[in-house]
Amino acid sequence: MSYVDDFMKYLIEKTPAEPEFHQAVQEVVESVVPTLNRSPIYREAQILERMVEPERVILFRVPWMNDKGEYRVNRGFRVEMSSAIGPYKGGLRFHSSVMLGVLKFLAFEQVFKNALTTLPMGGGKGGSDFNPKGKSDSEVMRFCQAFMSELYRHIGPNTDIPAGDIGVGGREIGFLFGQYKKLKNEFSGALTGKAFNWGGSHIRPEATGYGAVYFAEEMLNVCGDSIEGKVCAVSGSGNVAQYTVEKVNQLGGKCVTLSDSGGAIIDEAGIDEGKLAWVMKLKNEKRGRISEYAKKFKGAKYLAGKRPWNVKCDVAFPSATQNEISVVDAKTLVKNGCICVSEGANMPTVPGGVTVFQQARICYGLGKAANAGGVAVSGLEMAQNAQHLTWRREEVDGHLKGIMKRIHEACDEHGRVDKKYIDYVRGANVAGFLKVADAMLAQGVV
Ligand code: NDP
Repeated sequence: MSYVDDFMKYLIEKTPAEPEFHQAVQEVVESVVPTLNRSPIYREAQILERMVEPERVILFRVPWMNDKGEYRVNRGFRVEMSSAIGPYKGGLRFHSSVMLGVLKFLAFEQVFKNALTTLPMGGGKGGSDFNPKGKSDSEVMRFCQAFMSELYRHIGPNTDIPAGDIGVGGREIGFLFGQYKKLKNEFSGALTGKAFNWGGSHIRPEATGYGAVYFAEEMLNVCGDSIEGKVCAVSGSGNVAQYTVEKVNQLGGKCVTLSDSGGAIIDEAGIDEGKLAWVMKLKNEKRGRISEYAKKFKGAKYLAGKRPWNVKCDVAFPSATQNEISVVDAKTLVKNGCICVSEGANMPTVPGGVTVFQQARICYGLGKAANAGGVAVSGLEMAQNAQHLTWRREEVDGHLKGIMKRIHEACDEHGRVDKKYIDYVRGANVAGFLKVADAMLAQGVV
């Protein structure tokens, strides 16, 4: 049995019901085997065994009341995975699919992603199986207040700093922050993703989408190419997808798809600035469905229950959720001429799909590198909060671009295969692993 098989057997026996977590760990273990073989100290110190065990998991009851006065109960979680290089940092997800294994996969990925940003942030993730869809603003507020009534005792600007993720946008961060401030009697940067006029940072809403496009641009530049003139397929229609479309448009590309959990729209004419503004209103204010796009804009089609990967495109930006690109989808993308995949979502491609991209030697930017822009600007929001200052929009955007460039350089350093090809999976995993592992060695057995 290989070392990877042995390790995965050990992990699966300990955590049998967490397939997403196993998937995320397996990718890292496969990438770092040569590093472990070169430096036996990491195995002697059981670094991987320690990395897959969260430092702490908080699991709590969230009771609340709906608008009809009926009692409701959800489950709240916070997985504090690693504080080796900084306080725990990572988003909160509110979605009916949330369970411990999903949050452990996200927290595990977050540890390496945060290390890649070069900022001093550990990794964590949290959330609830609460589904904000179809709930009124006051129900969402009461839920957020109930959730924070327990979470507040475990977080703080030097301990654990949550942010948004699926189902947690500006509205939810506002309600969560309000309750934190009231319970702690302090105005501090214990959450990021705050609105600009009460402690937020310029470019934070845009950061994940913009960062994924900057990363795609870096990857394309390696082959002397760029986003300009490229046809792009984007999935999702939430925060990450919206700002991916905005940045692609700014760089001269054309996005032809969006989706949500109901289906996908295809608009061969391109989702221009005006159409994007309409989508933002639909999704962020009216909280409507993407199917309405095809009714509003002539020439656009809606494919119920479908994902957008059958469309002919040069670049794909999966920006909805995990495992949304199957092996068949990956093969279709490659067959249709896709030369670059930059993952705005976390782990959107199944392992067999990743292999398809690697064998085709297309530019494949995995989530923990390509979508690190969001947490990077969260780190910059923390820096601004600590200084009691706000930086200009251009300054934050400049930092974001610089960070995405440095992440690309780290992938190049550890993942270069030959003159023409970088294995970003290996590059990102090894770079992130080394930073966290060396900090763990230095800090002793804690
Ligand atoms: P949003 O809640 O704003 O949007 C999520 C989008 O994905 C919606 O269009 C949603 O459709 C769709 N979606 C969610 N679940 C599914 C599903 N099971 N099947 C099909 N579509 C689905 O979330 P974000 O844009 O913030 O997050 C998107 C992805 O990006 C996630 O993987 C997240 O972890 C990742 N990410 C986000 C960061 C951030 O800063 N926000 C940072 C780094 C990564 P519907 O409305 O129908 O549910």
